[in-house]
Amino acid sequence: MAFKDKTLQCSDCGADFTFSAEEQELFQSRGYTNEPKRCPACREARKAERYGSTGYRSRRQMFPAICAECGKETKVPFQPREGRPVYCSECYGKLTSGR
Ligand SMILES: [Zn+2]
Ligand SMILES: [Zn+2]
Repeated sequence: MAFKDKTLQCSDCGADFTFSAEEQELFQSRGYTNEPKRCPACREARKAERYGSTGYRSRRQMFPAICAECGKETKVPFQPREGRPVYCSECYGKLTSGR
């Protein structure tokens, strides 16, 4: 049976995502009959939540980053994106309250 890429809508964030032919094949080979309801990002998030539900619920994942202002290593609660400056809390405070 041939599979074709499908575009599905995530029930969590509403974003369109691709349910690729390979994934469909994988799903079938595992005996899953339902299509995924969530995009990969939300699936990961839910998985992480499930694993973390034993007491670490409020713990946020921190990502290492380099402050664009002072060059210090810092940690931010979001995935730093290329081309987007990240600041340590000190510089961030200065930048937002400075003016
Ligand atoms: Zn989603
Ligand atoms: Zn800084």
